[in-house]
This record gives sequence, C-alpha cells and structure tokens, in this order.
Amino acid sequence: MRITVVRGDITTQQVDAVVNAANERMRGGGGVDGAIHAAGGPAILEDCIARFPNGLRTGEAGLTTAGDLPARWVIHVVGPNLNAGNTDRSKLTSCYSGALAVADELGARSVAFPLVSAGVYGWPLDDAVAAAVDTLEETPTQVEEARMVAFGDRAYVVLERRISAL
Ligand code: ADP
Repeated sequence: MRITVVRGDITTQQVDAVVNAANERMRGGGGVDGAIHAAGGPAILEDCIARFPNGLRTGEAGLTTAGDLPARWVIHVVGPNLNAGNTDRSKLTSCYSGALAVADELGARSVAFPLVSAGVYGWPLDDAVAAAVDTLEETPTQVEEARMVAFGDRAYVVLERRISAL
C-alpha cells in the first residue's frame, strides 16, 4: 500500500472511501465530522441512525453511505478524546487498523483519512501523525492507497516528513 499526503479538504477527495473522525453518538458534530455531513447531505445521518442506533465506541470503525460525496462510502471512527482524559493510544491506532479492515470488507482500493483526534479531541499533532502513519504502514491490507488529508500547513509538513522517513 502506498501512503500519500495531500493538503486539502477530505470531502472533495476522489477515493472509494473517506474516513470520518466521528464521536460516539454518531449523530454529526463539528470539525471534519460536520464537513462530511454538510457535504454528503442527510443520507449520511439517516444511515448512521439506521445502522448505529447506539452509536459507536471509542476505537471502533463503522460504515455508512457517502451520500453526495464523490466517495462511495464513509468509514466512521471514534478517536480517543484526550481533552476528556482518554489517553489510550491503542484506541487511536485501532481507528486506522479498523478502518482498513472495513475497507477490505468493502473491496475499497483507495481510502482518505483525516488526522483522527488531532482537532477538538486534543491529541498532539506529532503523535497523531506518528500513530496514523505507523499503523497504516504496519497493517496488512488490500487497500492500494491510504491518502492522508492535511487540513492545515503544519499537519501537511509533519505528515510529509513522517511518510518520507518510512
Ligand atoms: P477530533 O474530534 O477527532 O479531534 P476534528 O474534526 O476536530 O476531530 O479534527 C480532526 C482533524 O481533522 C484535525 O487535524 C482537523 O484540522 C482536520 N479537519 C477538519 N476539517 C477537515 C476537513 N474538511 N478535511 C480534512 N481534515 C479536516
């Protein structure tokens, strides 16, 4: 699998699946979650309610339609909320390995990822990048491209450096 990085907005990525940094309720939110629901339209929320009546647990991954997004599927993951005291890094890495497992079940070949937990949930950027890139590198998968989408310049620089060092 190639690990690539682009600067931009995950909602415009032409990939088979985009990963959403959701919350446990799975009924929409701010940040990348809000952007994905806004761009994908109400079909995503409807599918979240239908498939995940009890939401999703931290560290888990689950699938919905991508609605109006260019992608075919959204793979929702819930990263640990450091700002709420959740310091369990294994819950962060399992978001990436779990998303790849869902992508494999779907036969997805290209998957775009945001930096899970690196926003409102407060995970330090350097370690959020390390957890993302190292887990993607170590997880066996049929996915051909894992595309890290950097929303800001700093995220881009740190991702680019970590990926180049592989
Ligand atoms: P969390 O609650 O898991 O921290 P956030 O959505 O607050 O999730 O932030 C996760 C990461 O997603 C941050 O690095 C943030 O800058 C980034 N982000 C926010 N909006 C977008 C977007 N439209 N596309 C890609 N990344 C985004």
